[in-house]
This record gives sequence, structure tokens and C-alpha cells, in this order.
Amino acid sequence: MTSSFYPPLRTLMGPGPSDVSPRVLSALARPTIGHLDPLFVDLMDQIKTLLQYAFQTDNELTLPVSAPGSAGMEACFVNLVTPGDTVIVCQNGVFGGRMKENVERCGATAVMVEDNWGEPVGIDKVAAAFDRHPEAKLLAFVHAETSTGVRSDVAALCALAASHGALSIVDAVTSLGGIELLVDAWGADAVYSGTQKCLSCIPGISPVTFSPRAVELIRNRKHKVQSWFLDMQLIMGYWGGSAKRAYHHTAPVNDLYALHEALLMLQEEGLEAAQQRHRRNHEGLVAGLEAMGLAMAVAPEYRLPQLNSVLIPEGVDDAAVRNALLREYDLEIGAGLGALAGKTWRIGLMGFASNERNVLYCLGALDAILARAGAAINSGKAVPAAREVFDRQAGAASA
Ligand SMILES: *Cc1c(COP(=O)(O)O)cnc(C)c1O
Repeated sequence: MTSSFYPPLRTLMGPGPSDVSPRVLSALARPTIGHLDPLFVDLMDQIKTLLQYAFQTDNELTLPVSAPGSAGMEACFVNLVTPGDTVIVCQNGVFGGRMKENVERCGATAVMVEDNWGEPVGIDKVAAAFDRHPEAKLLAFVHAETSTGVRSDVAALCALAASHGALSIVDAVTSLGGIELLVDAWGADAVYSGTQKCLSCIPGISPVTFSPRAVELIRNRKHKVQSWFLDMQLIMGYWGGSAKRAYHHTAPVNDLYALHEALLMLQEEGLEAAQQRHRRNHEGLVAGLEAMGLAMAVAPEYRLPQLNSVLIPEGVDDAAVRNALLREYDLEIGAGLGALAGKTWRIGLMGFASNERNVLYCLGALDAILARAGAAINSGKAVPAAREVFDRQAGAASA
């Protein structure tokens, strides 16, 4: 017999989804109304304004795509790339590979700029690619590489693209809400994100924003966009500024209640305060991991506070530790991916999950499991080290 599904109450400290705020979950359960109901149209306008705040943009074409981050990615590529185009794609982890796949499926050529997994996109290499390929129309790269925990320099990369007359496509799935992202000030042209990373929201929606230059390119297309569902010219009829909304698809009404609540929480906290919270909790976590004797996988200057890659100590069984965390502590952390599989754990501190309690809980659980497995760690040091960092931060804040 099947019956209702009641999931356990996990603590989600992996690469996403991350813990969803109870405020967001309760918004989700409010009564469904029609997607063309005037009250829902008002809500859509509010969501757009809140997204413009989160993205730090005045872009008119800013909206949530009704599907996960991968659909936001695809929306950017299918609308901006036409057959025969050249696109420079940066790869320093998993997600650059997906960008390449998108470019090729649009009938265009992807010129790859590769960097080691665990390092940021090399600006000089991108400059050299533009010199070799002056015909390149777009530059695509990932801001926060969730597979490795590395941040790349969006401002420098967008400026480089602009100086070669190219537009930029930026993956901000894991960066939005977690670290600084200034869409207008940095001149990013097409940016997509996700709701289940640093926005404290459920998975399944992808905020996107397009600059006026990107919109012009879309309007001047000769080829129809290959995807009917993701064609921005059609979606603009539903999400566009005019009072008259045309039916395109049924918006995920309750999901958008959730997104609205999550964005409202971000606005109430303030973008900068949210980013500082991510950084403070990251500092506590790193202090704890290092006191335990573990080493971080990424150099401090490129580390993402919301996604912490830590090297698995010699002789420790990767999967056994993660399974024990899940089974005994209801705690999820991520495995390494691709080149880093079996070598790293990825500990997320994203959105609502980025809090002191989660840091202390994760450190305590990891300490207990590693000590029991006989790993060579300094047991008992991690939690006090993190506590000390938090106390110092609190002292500095009240001074
Ligand atoms: C999670 C993620 C995606 C994909 O988002 P989905 O919601 O899983 O489709 C894309 N890019 C990056 C950097 C991500 O972390």
C-alpha cells in the first residue's frame, strides 16, 4: 500500500537544495489563485521588483523562469545564440561543460577556455581566446562554481567581453544572495540563477535577467528560438510590464508565493547583511575544520563562503562518512564531483542554512564520525574553534 509521504527533517548542507525557511514553506501552502487573477498579477510585479533588488539591476526583462536553474541556463543560451555563432565558454568545473552542450545544441561553436577544477576562470586565457576569435559574439562563464567552491571575477570577465563587442552570459545559480553580485555595475548581459541555493527557497524556479543590449539582440533575431517554452519574446507577453498579460503557460502559482516570501526575507535582512552572514559562518566553519586538522581544497582568495570544499583525509571512506552523517545526524553534505570525486566533501552554507547552529552541528557530527573511524584528526577541537570565531565576531560587532 502506498501512503502519504512524510520526509524526515534533514539539515541540508550540501550543494543544494539547502534548508528552506519555514516562512517560505508556509507561504507555499497558501490557497492557490488563478495565474491571471489581478491579485496574482500584482504579486508578479512585486516579484520582479524584488528580483531586480536581488540582482542589483534595473533590467526590465527580469523574471522567474518556471523551471529549475538548468532551464534558466537554457533560456539564456537559446535566446541569445543563433546557428553559426561563436561563443567563448569558460570551464573550471561541472557547469561550464553544460554551457558547452547548450551552445552546440543551438548550432553554434563553443571555443573552450579551460582552467583546473578548484581554480577561477583565467582572465588572460579568455583575453587570448578573444584575440584568436574576434568573431566571438558571447562569453559564458560561471560566477560561483558549485562543483568546486570557487568564485570567478564577473566584473573583469564582463568588461573583457564588452571590450570585444561581445555579450556575457553569467551563471549565478549559487552566487545570488550569497556573495556580491552587481548585474548592472558589472555590465552582465544575461544572468540566470536558482532558488534552492542561497535564496532559502524551494527548488524549481530560475530567476533570470537580461540587459537592454541582450533584449535588443533577442528582438533582432532572424531564427526563431528553438524552444517554444523558453522563448523570451513569448514570455515577455506574460511577464512584460504592460497591464495586459497574455497566457503563455500556467505560472507555478504557489511556488511563486514561496519565491516572493524568500525574496522579501532577503530584502528585510538586506543583501549586504545576508552576504556578511554567509561570510561569518564560513569563517567559523573553516576555523573548525582546520582545528580538526582538515585542509580546505580552494585558496582563500577564491573560496565561496556558501560552498566549502574540504579535502577528505587520507584513508577515510568518503561515502561511509556521508552516509553516517545522513543516517545518524539527518545531515546532508555533498560529495566531490568530476575531477574531485572521492577527494573532497562539499559543505554548503547557503541561505537559511547558513547559520551558527548548522556550523557547530556539522563540525560536531563530522568530528564524532571521523574519530570513531580512527581518522587522524584532532578530535574535540573543531567546535570550540568555531565557537571562538563566532564569539570574536560578536565582540567586534558590538564594539
Ligand atoms: C545547481 C546549479 C545549476 C543547476 O540548477 P538546477 O536547479 O539543478 O537545474 C547550475 N549552475 C550552478 C552553478 C549550480 O550550482
